Amino acid sequence: MASVEQHVEQEILKVQAPAPQDGQEISVENPATGEIAGSVPDLGPEAVAEMAARARAAQAQWEAYGFEGRARVLKRAQKWLMDNSERVVATIVSETGKTYEDAQFAEIAYAANAFGFWAKQGPDYLVDEHVKSSQILVKGKKLVLRYRPLGLIGVIGPWNYPLTNSFGDCIPALMAGNSVILKPSEITPLTSLLMAEGMRECGLPDNVLQIATGRGQTGAALIEHVDMIMFTGSTRTGRKVAEEAARRLIPASLELGGKDPMIVLSDADLDRAANFAAYYSMQNAGQTCISIERVYVEEGVYDEFVAKVSDKVRALRVGKPEGPGSVEVGAITFPPQMDTIKDHVTDATEKGAHVVVGGHELPGPGRFYEPTVLVDVDHSMKIMTEETFGPTLPIMKVADADEAVRLANDTPYGLGASVFTRDAQRGEAIARRLEAGAANVNDAMINYTVLELPMGGAKASGLGSRHGAGGIRKYCSQQAIVVTSRLAMKREVHMFPYKRRTSRLLAGLFKLLYGRGRRD
Ligand code: NDP
Repeated sequence: MASVEQHVEQEILKVQAPAPQDGQEISVENPATGEIAGSVPDLGPEAVAEMAARARAAQAQWEAYGFEGRARVLKRAQKWLMDNSERVVATIVSETGKTYEDAQFAEIAYAANAFGFWAKQGPDYLVDEHVKSSQILVKGKKLVLRYRPLGLIGVIGPWNYPLTNSFGDCIPALMAGNSVILKPSEITPLTSLLMAEGMRECGLPDNVLQIATGRGQTGAALIEHVDMIMFTGSTRTGRKVAEEAARRLIPASLELGGKDPMIVLSDADLDRAANFAAYYSMQNAGQTCISIERVYVEEGVYDEFVAKVSDKVRALRVGKPEGPGSVEVGAITFPPQMDTIKDHVTDATEKGAHVVVGGHELPGPGRFYEPTVLVDVDHSMKIMTEETFGPTLPIMKVADADEAVRLANDTPYGLGASVFTRDAQRGEAIARRLEAGAANVNDAMINYTVLELPMGGAKASGLGSRHGAGGIRKYCSQQAIVVTSRLAMKREVHMFPYKRRTSRLLAGLFKLLYGRGRRD
């Protein structure tokens, strides 16, 4: 079998990119080697406008496939992904520098599950709802709530999960009957191009899914043409996207940054808690929106917990991924992210934090940072309050659960959170006090895999959500349909001309309907 690297070289050359129209080429760097993994066109506003026109022309035919026809294409795509998983993993690894396992577990497995989930659940979430009403004026009429595709959806994605977070949002948008234009991050566009090629092979009609490669300006141009924008990325860019969407009066769904806290109570299973802390802070080199970014530990178990986590983190292998089982921690994908990580660690140590493990950038080639554990941290430090997005784990001692909850909520973000305690009931009660879109008890990040549950941020972590019924209905407009049968009266009772007797009768009827009962 060919190695991952051989796959990359062979397959990336095969990826079909749109022809450059307005701009220059963008080189895609492999962050684990510094080599160029491919190049894509930097599309400008004209090219995006043309794509949008083609997408609109193609949408009606796709909508006419119906749930069954669209589900068939998604199910084929699920099998295509499995048949081509090594090729897709190789492409993801080549542009992110993440490990084979990070690509396999958190990208391929997610997308494969998502294809099947939306193919099966999409129709249930979007089927016409026949509504019953207590409103007397509509007795005997047919009342329907219908979900209609919005038309053209723009998806703008980040660089940390080119399959899960960029392409993943296209799946429900397509299942709902929309055309989609995806603008992947300029850092990681190759996976999206490969997936679009796969979708064509699976029978998706031309122009129903197009990839607008380019930089921020390409994303901004896309917002000008779509009926709804699904954005995943930083809170800073998310605000700009929301402003542009507001100007155009189109809906926007925003999945933004996070600073997820983990709380460890003194009765927790410390081995489980330590494994979760080490894994979910370092997985994907910490470049996950719902990574564990900070930990609060009750003082009675603090030293033991720090020792357990430090041992586990010290044992991690970091470096260039060479296929399955080669390293645990891969590269820092986005060059400026390295500056943020170093800045946060330096800021913390200057303010009194101590590095227990790691704490340095590793020499190249490639961009790597040592898996790092810090103690003696507090909320004067950036590493406890700003999104670091790297392989760092600051651990803070707290007096009790109340202090932990207060500090966990002391952030503008509110994406995910976790609580570890042997008392599951108490854990749930604490989870309910956390200002986060998702809270896991004795677990972390697992909520993301549950596509039946909504995934979205509180506070500055976002607006709207992906997954669950809302995760596909947001790509539709709602239409209320009222059908009166032809056996209806020629004139309804409340109509002109107004007559004293009828008005009195109606007033009495309203009193009968709404005026009875206690007034307390
Ligand atoms: P950015 O906000 O920098 O970029 C996101 C996307 O927006 C990129 O495709 C970018 O293009 C594009 N973009 C940049 N400027 C504009 C603009 N003015 N108008 C429209 N689009 C624009 O985020 P990152 O790529 O750095 O991603 C990391 C962030 O994403 C982290 O904060 C992370 O927490 C968050 N994230 C959130 C998730 C969630 O589900 N809540 C999941 C994953 C990540 P280009 O890259 O070409 O500049």
